[in-house]
Amino acid sequence: MEIKVLSRQAMEEFKSDENHIVISISDPNSEKVKISSKPFDILSLQFHDVDKPLVARDKCTACKGTGYLPEYKNINDGHCYRCTTMLDIKLFTDAQAKEILSFIELRKNNNGKEEMIVVHCEAGISRSAGVAGALSLIYNGSDQYYFDKFLPNMLVYRKILNMYHLQLKFKKG
Ligand SMILES: [Zn+2]
Repeated sequence: MEIKVLSRQAMEEFKSDENHIVISISDPNSEKVKISSKPFDILSLQFHDVDKPLVARDKCTACKGTGYLPEYKNINDGHCYRCTTMLDIKLFTDAQAKEILSFIELRKNNNGKEEMIVVHCEAGISRSAGVAGALSLIYNGSDQYYFDKFLPNMLVYRKILNMYHLQLKFKKG
């Protein structure tokens, strides 16, 4: 299964004669991505490029457990729920991980022939590579390429793999 990683700009300029589907990732409240490559299907997801899961409030380095943020901190500090709400940070969710897996599985069941998967985010470095790395490990048995060439978002990467294994376990009973 070929999985391509692109930036928003590269996605908007992308043309291909090959059958493909697109996982389109953008920042919340950002402009709509203009895709003209005529993919079979598009899954659009919005979340910020946060690499760390939520921490308990007393472990929060941003607000130091006070739930109060005196100034804006790096969104990658690892925030508590209160902080992410106050800063309006949207983390990648389990539901989104599930959507990605269903999207791929549906396409696989519909037609025997595999399509190329194009994943893009804003910069084409972190979120899209996290998705591509996880999918490549699941379907191709290796994620090496994506770790060599990009900086996969580990929250995204782990959440997709965890969800995949959870679903496998559930299917097996
Ligand atoms: Zn906090």
